[in-house]
Amino acid sequence: MAKIFCVANQKGGVGKTTTTVNLAAGLAKIGQRVLMVDLDPQGNATMGSGVDKRKLELTVYDVLLESASVKEAAVFSDKCGYHVLGANRELAGAEVELVELDRRDKRLKQALAEVATDYDFVLIDCPPSLSMLTLNGLCCAHGVIVPMQCEYFALEGLTDLVNTIKQVHANLNPDLQIIGLLRVMFDPRITLQQQVSEQLKAHFGDKVFNTVIPRNVRLAEAPSYGLPGVVFDPAARGSQAFVDFAAEMVERIRKM
Ligand code: ADP
Ligand code: MG
Repeated sequence: MAKIFCVANQKGGVGKTTTTVNLAAGLAKIGQRVLMVDLDPQGNATMGSGVDKRKLELTVYDVLLESASVKEAAVFSDKCGYHVLGANRELAGAEVELVELDRRDKRLKQALAEVATDYDFVLIDCPPSLSMLTLNGLCCAHGVIVPMQCEYFALEGLTDLVNTIKQVHANLNPDLQIIGLLRVMFDPRITLQQQVSEQLKAHFGDKVFNTVIPRNVRLAEAPSYGLPGVVFDPAARGSQAFVDFAAEMVERIRKM
């Protein structure tokens, strides 16, 4: 049965999409069957997985509105080795359209239930908000992966996310938990980053993943080639860190 994880943080530009596509590619590389779901109307995770969002006939939008199944809408990325349930600007409309519908927060959960045996991992790239789209992600997930930069305001933003997760856990999805905080874009030469990293460990203990993703320009360059860094330049330090992270995730779900 697939384990479903949201990559979420309501801040933009913190590394959610980079984490989602590189973890997906890392997991595929070590033999896991992966479905990557793009829940952000920007469609960056779709494009960054070698799938052209402008050419998609069916997307996660159709799945949320129940006009297509996941099997019909997902496409396999040959280059990346995982399936992509893509998104494009159309998805922005779903936010409004879903409000009118029943079971509006459980649509994705129901759709994913049909493919639960087809995958080991489902990774959901969430938009930078705590919106109906993110709620659909949180309602179907077993856990949340929170990428964060070790900066001064990082902890502050975390409180809102932790409270949202607690509420969803209490009211909508008793399975939901924070699987872990992933330190990304890390630069050990910056003293403040080291300090925040230590604070995180003191506060959240083993909820902080052992793997640290360094700031690495190859990870930032990869999307312009429509690839995750792990595929674009497997030897890059950032790519290797994501493959390590994939192995750490496999280890964690064994204990779940
Ligand atoms: P989000 O999805 O949270 O908005 P992104 O994954 O798009 O964040 O990352 C924001 C920017 O930071 C992008 O330009 C991305 O290429 C860059 N980036 C992300 N992670 C790294 C990293 N480890 N090293 C260097 N650049 C990174
Ligand atoms: Mg993103």
